[in-house]
Order: sequence, then structure tokens, then C-alpha cells
Amino acid sequence: MTDKSEDVLIRVENLVKHFPVSGKRKAVVHAVDDVSFSIRKGETLGLVGESGCGKSTVAKSIIRMHKLTSGSVFLGNDDIAGLSEKELRPYRKRMQMVFQDPYSSLNPRMTVLKLVSEPLIAQGLISNSKQGRDNIVEMLNKVGLSAEHTSRYPHEFSGGQRQRISLARALILEPEFIICDEPISALDVSIQAQVINLLQKFKQEQSLTYLFIAHDLSMVRYVSDHVGVMYLGKMMELCDSEQIYREPLHPYTRGLLAAIPVPDPALAGNKRRTAIEGDLPSPITPPSGCRFHTRCSRCMNICREVEPELKDVGGGHLVACHLMD
Ligand code: SF4
Repeated sequence: MTDKSEDVLIRVENLVKHFPVSGKRKAVVHAVDDVSFSIRKGETLGLVGESGCGKSTVAKSIIRMHKLTSGSVFLGNDDIAGLSEKELRPYRKRMQMVFQDPYSSLNPRMTVLKLVSEPLIAQGLISNSKQGRDNIVEMLNKVGLSAEHTSRYPHEFSGGQRQRISLARALILEPEFIICDEPISALDVSIQAQVINLLQKFKQEQSLTYLFIAHDLSMVRYVSDHVGVMYLGKMMELCDSEQIYREPLHPYTRGLLAAIPVPDPALAGNKRRTAIEGDLPSPITPPSGCRFHTRCSRCMNICREVEPELKDVGGGHLVACHLMD
């Protein structure tokens, strides 16, 4: 099902990640169950879903912060899923991650110079932060900071500036692929656009490829070439970005779109979509059949028993729903 053409940079095939439940011998959390997708060089895939749907676990499995339960992750032509930490080292330079909360992902005891030089030292490219100073100042300028910031600590910056430091840390190794795990969710709305513009600028200038994770479809709209919608560890819909907003087909995607506030009341009346009700079921005992059936207003008998396959319903628009049969 995944795209195997030459210009694909990231290919995830049948990714499964289960976590053991402490104190319960056979119980597992089904964080990600059989997820596949690919991202072409220079493109952005937006991955969306409620908290607990497995999108961050996908990201951390790609970058091998988690060991996969099964499945493959290709960077270019190489399957990196089973590599040892030593074998993985050259690939780490090519893939970087920017986290949601820059405050907790930046060591508060390190100056900006040390924080941004750390990845270079870890890769053996420089032996101390002074050696990399010129490069680091150049990178800080690119993300909208300056040389005078090098001696300051994370707490001396605003949330938006801290995210710029995180971005500098990620970009200093000149990666090909960056995972942005909800990079703007913790920021004020006025700052969100600045960070998005920076990400877009680097995408164009350096042909970067992104996996952009968000809990809401409005956040990925302007950055994504393709959008994937996850629910309880499964991919429910995957297609190009235009299509998902123009013609959402999965009831869950339609519910997510209905939850986005529409400023114009006239337009809101035209949406005719129902927001999703109820809570996310437990990923330890996911519902039988379609995992969304306990919250789906269109649920049929078959939905409770048979799991729908993720199928191409035309033009590369993939949907996992019995309504498409
Ligand atoms: Fe709803 Fe059934 Fe489609 Fe699942 S398969 S989304 S329950 S209609």
C-alpha cells in the first residue's frame, strides 16, 4: 500500500507498537496497530488525531526512541527498524525531532551555545562548543535569534524563542527529515504563525521533509501536502491535504472537522457535520471490528464485528470504513 518510488524518503510499513501493562501479565496497550504510510522528499505529512491515538508513538518509533513491536521503517532504501544503537548512529544525523514543550526538552542548566552544540558533539563533528561557535551563531541568526543569546539559559526566553532554540538544535546537523511533534500547541496563537513560517522557510530552502503531528486538523492545514488521521492506534483516512478538507470521507475525520470553530455563523450552519461524542475507549481493550464504532453515529452491524481495511477509494484517497464498500 505504501509508495515505493525513488523520491520517497520515509516509508513506514505495518508499524505495530504495544506497551506492556505493569502488573498485568498478558495485557498490552495497543498504541499503534499496523500503520503504513510514506513521505516523499520535500513534502510534509500531517498526522492528526485525539490524544492517545498513537501519533506520537508513531513518531518516536520512527526515530527509534521506542523499539518497534513489529514492522519496518525505511529511511531512503534502508530499513532502520532493527538496527543496533551503533548501526543507527549515521541515520540519527539525518532525522531530528522537535517536541511540543521546548521548556522540558531543553536542559535548563545549559546555555544556548551548549544546547545547540550538543548534537554536533554527540555526532563527533566538533569536540567542544567553542569550536562550533561560528556555525551555531549562523544557525541562531537563521531561526531569528542572535549571537548575544548564546550565553543565556532557556528560562530567559519566551515560549516562541525556546521553540526557535529547539529548531536550531534540530537543524544544526543539516537533517533531511524532521518530526515536529505538536510544535505549536503550547504556544500563543500570535506566535504559532511565526514558528510555522520558519518551518516553511526551511522546508523550501533546504528541501526538508516533515512529519507534522497535531491534535486538530486546523493546525496542519497550511503546512501539509498529505494528511493522515489516526484513531486508537489505527490509520482511518489518508489522502492529499486539499482532499481531506474538501471531501472528508471517514466519519471520524468529519467529526474532527466539525470540532474546528468556524468564525462565520453562516458557514457554521452549512457544515452539517456532527462533532464526535463520548470518550476514547481504552487502548488496552480496543473495541472489536471498527475501533471507532462505539462513537460513530453511522455504525452498522458489520462495524461491530469486522475491522474495515484501509482501502483506496479513488485517486490515492485511503479510507478505512465499511460505508465505502
Ligand atoms: Fe462508522 Fe462503521 Fe465506518 Fe467505523 S466502519 S467509521 S463504525 S460506519
